[in-house]
Amino acid sequence: MRHKLIQLLTSALLFNAVISSTLSAEESVNYVESTKYQVTKNQALIEIKFSKKINYKHDQLKSPYRIYFDIEVKNIDPNLIALIESINKQPGLVTKAVIAKNKPDIARIVFEFTQGTNTRISSTRKGIQLVASQSEIPDLIDNFYKAETTQTKNKIWEKKQYLIAIDAGHGGKDPGAVGRRGTTEKSVNLSIAKRLKKLIDKEKNMKAILTRDRDVYVKLSDRIKKIRKHQPTIFISIHADGAENRKASGSSVFILPRKDEVASSRYAKLVAEKENEMDLLFDPDINNRDQNTQLTILDMTQNMSRYLSEQLGTSVLKRIGKVNNLHKKKVEKANFAVLKSIDVCSILVETAFLSNSQEEKQLKTAAYQDRLALAILQGIKDFLKNTPPAQLGVTISEN
Ligand SMILES: [Zn+2]
Repeated sequence: MRHKLIQLLTSALLFNAVISSTLSAEESVNYVESTKYQVTKNQALIEIKFSKKINYKHDQLKSPYRIYFDIEVKNIDPNLIALIESINKQPGLVTKAVIAKNKPDIARIVFEFTQGTNTRISSTRKGIQLVASQSEIPDLIDNFYKAETTQTKNKIWEKKQYLIAIDAGHGGKDPGAVGRRGTTEKSVNLSIAKRLKKLIDKEKNMKAILTRDRDVYVKLSDRIKKIRKHQPTIFISIHADGAENRKASGSSVFILPRKDEVASSRYAKLVAEKENEMDLLFDPDINNRDQNTQLTILDMTQNMSRYLSEQLGTSVLKRIGKVNNLHKKKVEKANFAVLKSIDVCSILVETAFLSNSQEEKQLKTAAYQDRLALAILQGIKDFLKNTPPAQLGVTISEN
């Protein structure tokens, strides 16, 4: 790391870089709580959250187009170096990033952009968010920095594989939907989740974790804690539907709507209400104010995750469509509590209708559960094939 740091610093001749005296352990170098870099072909997002109030200013330079931040700090936080490295490893609209001590009390970060890039900066003393786009700037998350970050420090850049968190909906005292033959949703969900985990663990570069591995009730707040702790690349919540109308059938995939969007259909709204009701009914913690604040806080930082979630949802839906009829041909959007509380590429799958006797019969069988699990895996793989690993915070070596 030290070696790379010196490389970075020496390459920053542009700014009369003064290489700071060595970063001794006693000095307080940690003032960055978390960073984020996400990039698609036409967009880039850079976020820096400070752990304390930091003074800085920013300005632009022309030809090439650059934006720099002069941050009033004595040292360079290693998290910033990791951020710069990850940008340079996976450049996009940001063609280059540099960090260097500009003066004894100033660290300068410079981002250089492709000609004609539009940028937008949101900043306070607690954080910086920079969005670059080839077209108009996407609808962005102002005030993101007010959110208490739940990410642990930059672990994200060390990830060498895709971690998939699988949530088998319901469990224990909460059976979920119940079919006419008495099949419970909680058991079908668990069985599919375990099959999916097995398939994922066999894949190169992929590993799965379960939010529950047996018939227990796991409170929503505990599931969320677990997901946040592990920071998975992808989160998939597995459910089976139940409807008054016993003819209702087919699979659907859901993601969260944007903050300013409503549910994509009456059906989507109903499904979310029903699933949330269970979560809220059985988890008293979720009703206290702290938890509620936590749930809404993340709303602000999820736009990029939402974009990825829609891509993932579309891939999974396509594959599931080969196993079962689709209840809805497109990815549906609704406010599921479990999706709302995490800032991860995530989908909720309603595999089929337990209330439909034909589908209940199928859902019970190992063969059908396997086919569904395999379809979800294939959907995940299709998605990963089309998504640069860095965009998901994963570093995969090509050999
Ligand atoms: Zn459910």
